[in-house]
Amino acid sequence: MTKKVLVLGEAREGSLRNVSFEAIAAAKTIANGGEVVAVLLGDAVASLAQEMIAYGADRVVTVEHPHLKQYTSDGYSQALMAVIEQENPEGIVFGHTALGKDLSPKIASKLKAGLVSDVTAIESNGDEHTFVRPIYSGKAFEKVQIKDGIHLASVRPNNITPLEKDDSRSGDVSAVSVDITNLRTIVKEVVRKSTDGVDLSEAKVVIAGGRGVKSEEGFEPLKQLADLLGGAVGASRGACDAEYCDYSLQIGQTGKVVTPDLYIAAGISGAIQHLAGMSNSKIIVAINKDPEANIFNVADYGIVGDLFEVVPLLIEEFKKI
Ligand code: FAD
Repeated sequence: MTKKVLVLGEAREGSLRNVSFEAIAAAKTIANGGEVVAVLLGDAVASLAQEMIAYGADRVVTVEHPHLKQYTSDGYSQALMAVIEQENPEGIVFGHTALGKDLSPKIASKLKAGLVSDVTAIESNGDEHTFVRPIYSGKAFEKVQIKDGIHLASVRPNNITPLEKDDSRSGDVSAVSVDITNLRTIVKEVVRKSTDGVDLSEAKVVIAGGRGVKSEEGFEPLKQLADLLGGAVGASRGACDAEYCDYSLQIGQTGKVVTPDLYIAAGISGAIQHLAGMSNSKIIVAINKDPEANIFNVADYGIVGDLFEVVPLLIEEFKKI
């Protein structure tokens, strides 16, 4: 049986986040040949619709309202519920982002439907879908099936391969008018910490520093290496607690979860709480002067040495490429 599946597209500063395209690919699998309908919520999002179609959505439904300019769970859930009532889908896919983590359980409870969160893969056997998700801080994976009702899932960024972009695809774009009322929270102003470069949760390359980096200045070579490789800088909680960097860079159980193609851990011991946020990275390189450091147990490549010698050497070599 084919299904109609909605996908919530997520935009940041006027551009769609990659996880939106990964969610379309997941929705295609669940739809099993059925229709994939992208949903865009915001104050001016219609211009993003064609990109969702190019990545595989069959059509797009937008809800535009001044109260949707910034995310609030009240505003977004009212808008999304209006689209759900109109479309009556059999599945809804979210990105497992800060927004998706907040909104998806709210929608699931309103629909009294099951939600599989933090999905890293979907195994399909025709109409039967098995969702794979990490448990116990990434030490094991469980496989979950939703047996009845709407299939709700949130997909972890960087795990599901998006479809090839095809700008020649076309699809209908329609607007739903929703009166967003009774908001308990209205965002008056967003003050962002300036973050240069690539978004850590979606970065293909992450260069992370730990307490071994020793100071704020010690992060400079890591930033240089990240810039050179088009990546983002991350950190252990040890480095954040020591005030070498901002907590927004923290990776781990109580920080961000990242799954880049390349993760370089410099001066990080590899505590279990740190591994929870990075152990599913595709290739892990560890630089640590202690050969017994636990990080080497998850690393594909280990360099036993002083990061202040090794990182400049890596920068020198990568500059030659
Ligand atoms: P350390 O353990 O001090 O390791 C520093 C490493 O640097 C050592 O291995 C040392 O050999 C190496 N080193 C020193 N100098 C050099 C050098 N010059 N060159 C190369 N190597 C060098 N941690 C997280 O990271 N993320 C989390 O989300 C997180 N959540 C937590 C939640 C809870 C409830 C708790 C209790 C803890 C949590 N922690 C988390 C903390 C975690 O247990 C560790 O304390 C922390 O990860 C250690 O950070 P670190 O590896 O940078 O520091």
